[in-house]
Amino acid sequence: MGAMIVIDRVYCGICHGLVKYKDHVYLDTLNTVIHQRCYNARFDMKDKGTFKEIVNKYSFFDEFRYDRFIEK
Ligand SMILES: [Zn+2]
Repeated sequence: MGAMIVIDRVYCGICHGLVKYKDHVYLDTLNTVIHQRCYNARFDMKDKGTFKEIVNKYSFFDEFRYDRFIEK
């Protein structure tokens, strides 16, 4: 286990609103999470899906994995 910055919540890169698990989001190439409703993707996005899917797919979201987020 290396040093890790732990962030409790993820905010949309456009509206700065809290991203919820059921929200459909884009993940951009800088690993910024953006609501799909906030952005008309004209550039290549790294990935898209519900935030839950993204969290479970990428190891850098370990702190946000669903089973650790239930109390939020
Ligand atoms: Zn947003």
